[in-house]
Amino acid sequence: MKKIFYIETFGCQMNEYDSEKISGMLENLDYNRTKNINNANLIIYNTCLIRENAENKLYGKLGALKKLKMEKDDLILAVGGCIPQNEEIRNYILDKYPFIDIIFGTNTFYKLPEMINKHMNNSHEILVELEKNSSNLNENLPTVRKYEHKAFVNIMYGCNNFCSYCVVPHTRGRERSRNSKEILNEVENLASQGFKEITLLGQNVNSYGNDLDGDYRFTQLLEDIEKINEIERIRYVSSHPKDVGDEFIDFLGRSKKVCNHMHLPIQAGSSKVLKEMNRKYTKEDYIQIIKKLRNSVPNISISTDFIVGFPGESEEDFEETLSLCREVEFDAAFTFIYSVRPNTPAGKRIDQINDEVKHKRFNRLLETLYPIFYERNLAYKDKVVKVLVDKISKNKDEYLTGRSRSNRIVHFKGNSNLIGKIVNVRINKVKTWFLKGVLTEEEAYE
Ligand code: SF4
Repeated sequence: MKKIFYIETFGCQMNEYDSEKISGMLENLDYNRTKNINNANLIIYNTCLIRENAENKLYGKLGALKKLKMEKDDLILAVGGCIPQNEEIRNYILDKYPFIDIIFGTNTFYKLPEMINKHMNNSHEILVELEKNSSNLNENLPTVRKYEHKAFVNIMYGCNNFCSYCVVPHTRGRERSRNSKEILNEVENLASQGFKEITLLGQNVNSYGNDLDGDYRFTQLLEDIEKINEIERIRYVSSHPKDVGDEFIDFLGRSKKVCNHMHLPIQAGSSKVLKEMNRKYTKEDYIQIIKKLRNSVPNISISTDFIVGFPGESEEDFEETLSLCREVEFDAAFTFIYSVRPNTPAGKRIDQINDEVKHKRFNRLLETLYPIFYERNLAYKDKVVKVLVDKISKNKDEYLTGRSRSNRIVHFKGNSNLIGKIVNVRINKVKTWFLKGVLTEEEAYE
């Protein structure tokens, strides 16, 4: 039997990273990956629970698979990641979709090969493997990277923050930092294979090392990665404002390799709402951090996350969010409408905002943000930027797409042999979501 797997990943980069490891393990078992779900005899959904949308999307996909599962005797269906970590939802899935064969969690994906074998010997039993707070940091698992020039490197797992709307501490457990030597080995290994850009991943990278002995923290880790010659760009995501300290900000100002982009989720512009979200900073604290960042790295690009319609959010609270957008002038933002998440304090509140109000506020937020993004991009018109070329553009074959150091998407005409290289591009067209330009030999502005 030909072994072919299809994997679909929902949610954050952490899940993407886990899926790279799952793919690596399966390729070691002689599985080939397909992009066509109908060709697969192993289908895996690596799921996300952070928003209701992602949960509903999974149910839609599972419902649609029932027919395929009936038609194909040898089809194995696995659901993993964040959703199965929640007992209530897991039981709902087991009840509603009894044709699922394997269920694994965020801490047990390394058991998938063993579970597949077990299933092949006894296909009648549904296999469920879950651990809440695993100490297994999944070191040394094979990984299939999406790109050959840039890679994610996870530096920690879990989160201790318990924001009142969020399921992550429940699904991924408490913070566990990887040993710095393991991380540096992984980066050195990637560097020796020609990778140029590393993105360090964690739910809250700025608290890296707090759970380890000694005083080696995130800034020291960045300093050590910066010393690895072949690595030209370092990125990191996500940061929590409460953990962004002066030592780290000073280092950003000195660093030659850490990119001038920071994703710093604010979530809301009202200190009252932030308190109820259990974010542990005020609007004023956040603005102060942005000032320090811009003093240290004058052309730093700031992206953020917003949640609109948190329970009890008043019109005045929401106005504060809009005024914060104008004050900070974000370069980009991920915007979400609040949705009730299981077993969270915010989900239990009785002062939920009605859908119509949430949607109206959401649209007003976008109307405020988009012109700001465009203005911020306009500063790049006629400037030359260094671009790490990722791929051929989705829409036009003769165009390539890459990212500037400030994380802007840049499209330009070029030959595919430039993929994986850093080139200079003169920007001649600016849009809200991307820049367009031409290849040049001129010196880059950033
Ligand atoms: S910091 Fe807050 S929002 Fe982010 S993962 Fe942790 S609990 Fe969730």
